[in-house]
Formats: sequence, C-alpha cells, structure tokens
Amino acid sequence: KLEKLGIHTLQDLLFHLPLRYQDRTRIRPIGSLRPGDECVVVGEIKAADVLQGRRRSLLCRIQDGTGTLTLRFFHFNAGQKNALKPGGQLRCFGEARPGPSGLEMVHPEYRQQRDEGLVAVAETLTPVYPMTEGLQQNRVRALIQMVLDELDEQAIEELLPAPLRDKWQLWSLVDSLRYLHQPPADADQNLMLEGKHPAQRRLAFEELLAHNLSLQKIRLKTREQGAPALPAQQSLIPRFLDGLPFPLTGAQQRVSAEVSNDLSQPFPMLRLVQGDVGSGKTVVAALAALQAVENGLQAAVMAPTEILAEQHYINFSNWLEPLGIEVAWLAGKLKGKARKEQLAKIVDGSAKVVVGTHALFQEEVVFHDLGLVVVDEQHRFGVHQRLSLREKGRNGDCAPHQLIMTATPIPRTLTMSAYADLDCSIIDELPPGRTPVNTVLIPDTRRNDVIERVRAACREGRQLYWVCTLIEESEQLQCQAAEVTCEQLRETLPELRIGLVHGRMKPAEKAEIMAQFKAAELDLLVATTVIEVGVDVPNASVMIIENPERLGLAQLHQLRGRVGRGSVESFCVLMYQQPLSQTGKERLAVMRQTTDGFKIAEKDLELRGPGEVLGTRQTGDMQFRIADLQRDSDLLTRVRQLAGQMADYPHQSQQLVWRWLGRGEEYGNV
Ligand code: ADP
Ligand code: MG
Repeated sequence: KLEKLGIHTLQDLLFHLPLRYQDRTRIRPIGSLRPGDECVVVGEIKAADVLQGRRRSLLCRIQDGTGTLTLRFFHFNAGQKNALKPGGQLRCFGEARPGPSGLEMVHPEYRQQRDEGLVAVAETLTPVYPMTEGLQQNRVRALIQMVLDELDEQAIEELLPAPLRDKWQLWSLVDSLRYLHQPPADADQNLMLEGKHPAQRRLAFEELLAHNLSLQKIRLKTREQGAPALPAQQSLIPRFLDGLPFPLTGAQQRVSAEVSNDLSQPFPMLRLVQGDVGSGKTVVAALAALQAVENGLQAAVMAPTEILAEQHYINFSNWLEPLGIEVAWLAGKLKGKARKEQLAKIVDGSAKVVVGTHALFQEEVVFHDLGLVVVDEQHRFGVHQRLSLREKGRNGDCAPHQLIMTATPIPRTLTMSAYADLDCSIIDELPPGRTPVNTVLIPDTRRNDVIERVRAACREGRQLYWVCTLIEESEQLQCQAAEVTCEQLRETLPELRIGLVHGRMKPAEKAEIMAQFKAAELDLLVATTVIEVGVDVPNASVMIIENPERLGLAQLHQLRGRVGRGSVESFCVLMYQQPLSQTGKERLAVMRQTTDGFKIAEKDLELRGPGEVLGTRQTGDMQFRIADLQRDSDLLTRVRQLAGQMADYPHQSQQLVWRWLGRGEEYGNV
C-alpha cells in the first residue's frame, strides 16, 4: 500500500509531506467556532438521542458554557449511544458545519473525559498526509512518527554543505523535515499551505538543485565526448547568403555566429535556439548544416511532424541543391523502394543533408559521417529523447553537435530547469516589414457574421485560413470535423474556392492543396491544427480559429504566426464557444493584448503550469515531488549558482541526484 504512495524506503517516508495540518494543540470555546473550523472542543453531554428520519442518526448535544454543539453520527451502535450519558465530559475533534439547529460536527473523533481537570492536548500541529485506499491516516502518522523518532544527521545525510547553507541561509535538512512533520503550535499554517515556509523552500531548493545537477552531469558527460571540430570554411556559406532574397537580421547574425563558434570546437555543441514564430530560425539551421557540409560531414534535420519535415525538406532542397548539395528525405510513411534509395544515400554519404521526422533515428538508418543534428520544435521532445539522439549520432568516441530549436519561446524559468543542460541563444528580432496581427474575440453564436466577413475578405482578394481544433485528442475526429466544416462552408459560400487539409491525407494530396493555396488558386483553406507548423503563405492575411479555448496559448500563437507574413494588415478571429471559464477568458484576452511570444509563454505557464506548456512528453521529466516550478521560480537563479559551487562536493552532488531522481541509469549514463 505504501508503494502506491511512491514510498519504498524510510527516506521516502520522510519526504512524504503533509498536505495540511490540524490544530489539536488547544481547546476552543464552542461559542467561538465558525463553520469550517477544524478543532478540539470539550463539553458536557446534555442529551444523546436517536433520531428516526430519512436516515437514522445519533445526535449528541454538548455544552461548555460558551455555546452548544451537536455531534451527529450516522453509523453507531447501542453501546455507543448508552455510553454518552448526560453529565459526562466529552472531548471531540472535528469540523464545525452549519446544521439544522446551529453548528454540528459529523462523525467527530471523541473521547470521554473522566477527570475534568486533566485535559491533554497535542504539542505540535497534527499532520494530514496524502493517503491511499486501505491505509489509514493514523497508520501513516504512526509510521512517520517512528522514523522521526530516529531522525538525526546519521539517519539522513545532510547533502547541502554547511558553508553553502549558511551563505544562502537555508535550513538544515533534519530541521526542515522535523518542522514539516511536527510544526509547533504557532507555526504559520497559511504560509505552509502556500508552500512558502523556509522549511519547504529548503526541500524544494534541494530537489531543484538535484535536477539541475543531473542535467549538468549529462552535459559534462556529453562534453567529455569528443566531437569533430567544424570550423567555418567560407566556401558554401557566402554563396548561400548571396542566394537568399533577404539579408539576415541582426539577431540571426548574432545567433549564427554563436552556433558557428560552437561548431568549431572539438566537443559537442549543445545549444538551444529560441525565437518567436517567424523570426527566421530555419535559415540559422541551414547555416549550421552548411558548416558541417563544408567540413565534409553530414547534417540531420529532424522535425516532430511530417508536414513540418516536408516543409523543411522543400526549403533545404531549394536552398542547397543549387550549391550542389544533395538533400535526402525520410519519414515513417516513406516505404519500399523510395525508402531504400534514401537509406542508401544516407549510408554512403552522398546525401549531405538529411531531413525527416523521428524516423531518422530508427535502427535501420545509418549515417555515413554525421557531424550535426538539428532538432526543430524541441518542446515536443523530452530530455530522454534528446539523449537518444546523442547516442544515435555517436561515431566511435565522437558525438555529433546538437542544435535544438523551439517552435515558440519557453518561459525563462522553464529554460533554466528543463534545459539546464543546454546553452541558449535567442533570436529576439523579427525580419522587417511584418505587420502585427489584429486579434478579435467573437462568440460562435455569431458564426454567420464571421462567414459574411470571410466572403467580404475574399472579395478583396485576401486569402484565409479556417482552423478546426481538436474535439478530443483524436486525430480522426478532428479530421471529420474539418470535413464537415468544409462542406458547410462550400454550401454557404459557393462562389469561393475552398480547399481542405488535414493530418489523415496522403502527403502528396496535402502538398497539392498547399501548393494550390500558395499559388492563390484557393481563397479559403480549411485545416486542422496540422498547419500549425511549417506553412508559409505570405498572401494569407486572415485566420479564423474555431474553439480556440481548447488550445494552449503557445499553440494559438504558433497558429496565428501563419498570418501577418505579408505587408497587408492581418486579422486573427478567435471564435470561441460560450460560456468561457474565467481562465478561458484570461487566456484569450492575452492573445488579444500581445503578439510577443515570450510574454505569451510566461502567461501560459502562469495559467496552465509547466507540464502543459512543455507538452505531455516533457511532463514525465518534469515531475517534482516537492518543488513547483511556478511557486518556486524565484529559487531557480540561486539553484543555478549553487549548482556551480557544488563542483567542490562530488560526493554530495552524486547523492543528491540519487536521492531525488533515483539511480535511474538514464540520467547518469550517457
Ligand atoms: P521560424 O522561426 O518560425 O521557423 P522561418 O524560418 O519559417 O521562421 O521564417 C519565417 C519566414 O521569414 C520565412 O518565409 C523566411 O523565408 C523569412 N525570413 C527569414 N529570415 C528573414 C530575413 N532576415 N528577412 C526577411 N525574411 C526572412
Ligand atoms: Mg520554424
């Protein structure tokens, strides 16, 4: 049963912290009780009667001179009733609730008080622990009490070195644990409920530190591996830049220089590139790939979805083939002869750049000489997937360089925790000439108005997206919904040329429709959220998103980034389903107020929490026992500084990772 609570060792018991506390340290006058108070009272029994009603119940009335309280029992036996003799003293603990005749306690704990003068109360607050079926609160309390009785520095090692603890004014581990399991009567319960007590912060700090150290460890191990040094050769890159129809932005230049410098080192680059939607990350990736190719090595570019991988394949082919570089393509759906051909080009090294989905990292794919891995839209991959990529590119003692690009900005606190193993570059500038998108919120009761606006916009020569969102996490349902919507729109707007793309169509079909839309042969494109990534049609200037309340802010931001790419004023219509929850309202309001992806990401974190923001895959990696990234975000800077100083304490560092992350080999052994 303990195992169900994640408790395997005595130490786990110690870290099984109370959810809240009961105050049994003093006896409250009955007259002072308010509904909801959970407390101890002592009173004289005035009456005990069985009430025959809809539900038979035993009612016992007690008085203490300040007021009267009713005790109500639905489960009782005759012996119990008979023991409650008028005149006796009763001590009870329970929650006061409003009843038919004043305050009452339902099924309180109670005890007869033989000697009126002798009223023992608890010395500390009483912990209430998370429980599981079949395991009583009292049993958990007793077990933890046993461990606490033995608790001292010998029983559990203090892993934060004293000088550092003093410097950062952190409580000792033993003091913190004792305090949290047995807080003194005057402890600030509100502070503890918020998780902000110094004892809790000390533990959260330690846990965050352990996570940080484990990522550092991964980072160090990777650094220890050699990597091929890939200095910039000035051969392909100038030709590539000359061929681009635009100059790089200052931010693109800065970030590319950082990447270029990393690549020239004899140990693996581990760099995260963040940039808002449309900030031009693809060019930065292409420049990195070219630097690998200039040095005679291969570069792999991986995207999380087929449609995005295709888009990259098209871009990279267009850019690189004129330079005489062959680009290979691999996705799960590629089968038979075509697949064999691509695999052959990858293994014999004739394909210098390989673009694909995670199919790139299947066993059968063998690279000739992989020097660089670019992973786009990182937030869908977890730390463990990142590790497996590193393995894949391993060539003898050498690891490939790694460039990770996120689709949308990640809040700083999350970067500092989830990505502590990476260096970070930020493209903080959009290419010139973008016009900010006007975002409007419209309830779906005004669907007909929206349809009329679509008609009018098309008459002006605009192109539009109509995005159907998930009904559930079912691709099939989503595609059906898009099909139905498309039919309805075709009926209502017969004069428009309307196309449909969704995730269940064949890649060739999708590409065909996208090409038509790009060539302005379609006025309106009905799509599922598959267009979230990768689609680039500058003439499309209006996007209607149905049921935007179902999507995360980052995803909405990503979708909205598909418009506002040309020079005309763009619109994004969020057609929400009424009624919206309070959070729903707040979230959509954020979309209207700002187009800054970094601000949106912070807000998303605040409203939805880290698991949602990083994506489900990532959540598993981000599970904390005590820390909470939102609540404890202010600790992260200090955690990082302290992690740096832990280098002098290898034993403690190792133990910390073990204590909090288990001996999970996946973390240590890279
Ligand atoms: P994201 O960062 O969202 O991946 P992309 O790399 O897809 O952005 O770039 C978005 C669009 O901006 C593309 O059409 C790309 O060609 C264009 N672009 C990229 N860099 C520049 C630039 N320096 N000046 C003008 N347009 C650019
Ligand atoms: Mg991109």
